[in-house]
Amino acid sequence: MKRVALLGATGSIGRQAVEIVARSPELELCALMSGSGPLDALAAAHGVEHVQVGGSAAGLLEASEPDIVLNAIVGFAGVEATLWALERGVILALANKESLVAAGELALAAHRRGGGLLLPVDSEHSAIFQCLEGREPETVAELVLTASGGPFRGRSRAELEHVTVADALDHPTWAMGRKITVDSATLANKGLELIEAHWLFGIPYERLAVVVHPTSIVHSLVRFRDGALLAHLGQPDMRVPISFALTYPDRAAVPVAPLDLAAGLDLRFEAPDDDAFPLLRLARAAGERGGTFPCAYNAANEVAVAAFLEGRIGFLEIAETVAAALEQVDGAPARDLDDLVAADAAARRAAERRLVPA
Ligand code: NAD
Ligand code: MG
Repeated sequence: MKRVALLGATGSIGRQAVEIVARSPELELCALMSGSGPLDALAAAHGVEHVQVGGSAAGLLEASEPDIVLNAIVGFAGVEATLWALERGVILALANKESLVAAGELALAAHRRGGGLLLPVDSEHSAIFQCLEGREPETVAELVLTASGGPFRGRSRAELEHVTVADALDHPTWAMGRKITVDSATLANKGLELIEAHWLFGIPYERLAVVVHPTSIVHSLVRFRDGALLAHLGQPDMRVPISFALTYPDRAAVPVAPLDLAAGLDLRFEAPDDDAFPLLRLARAAGERGGTFPCAYNAANEVAVAAFLEGRIGFLEIAETVAAALEQVDGAPARDLDDLVAADAAARRAAERRLVPA
């Protein structure tokens, strides 16, 4: 029996994870955490003793002694749990990409010390992880992340000027939490995923590519040095990568409808539009600069997305806010978690200043 601490239990990933754990005789929930939503009913239904709403994750994790931490918290708030699991060598099933983007080298160092498994839940990274299993690093030429393109794919920058919050939340292929849905509309999500892939797989940015694939059937690809591309195909259903991470390496059954290949799959790919969706190249630039620039990118994006969802700024101003904040921070590397929290806070202040012009 493996004990799962589920952080972000009330969210989109969290609810699907509850379903996966409930189906598996080898998994049990040992801890539940949310940011604000109540957990009493869920805890009672699954006999979970360790429950916490808000506050610090470390105490809950110490007390509940998990074998697996599924980090499905949204945003930088997930960084403490990510570092906790990596440092101790507890299996980390990571949905909370923001923590790996922000913590970067600190997370990698903790992972090296802890020596545990770091299993991506993000569908693209789960796909790449599976395509890379058993391959020699020198055979890998390039990782190719697929992006659905979000609800605004094909629109020009001018056409994005007046889009609404409701338009941005209307994702064509995935049903997800609000923050990541807006990130998918701006392509910041793919930007975060580019940095996430860099840290997960140790591949330099020049060998990380992004391609738009509107039907979200190919979850990502790996190009090898002999020209062969290995791809991971499936329904766009997060229960698959959640289950893969929680039951690794057993790959438990998941009740998804098989893809009907004979019905004809739409496997179109196209280049992302950097002009309409500048947050993708801003992420790449932040990743290449290193230090705490990725942390600042993430922090400013969180502030800007929240402001957009509150109706304080328009859609195009999300990217403008992030770009402005990145120009104001020093990006100095973080030596420890305190440095990282300070870098996150500085970027948030820079973004807030941009939102409220003097
Ligand atoms: P969501 O908004 O639906 O849920 C977020 C969860 O985090 C909620 O349970 C919320 O209570 C909790 N939370 C928020 N602040 C917290 C805090 N300070 N402390 C503890 N818990 C807190 O988000 P989601 O769509 O489930 O996404 C969760 C994470 O997974 C994000 O990092 C997202 O990028 C990633 N992810 C999601 C999907 C998806 O399909 N939803 C796919 C890939 C990756
Ligand atoms: Mg993803």
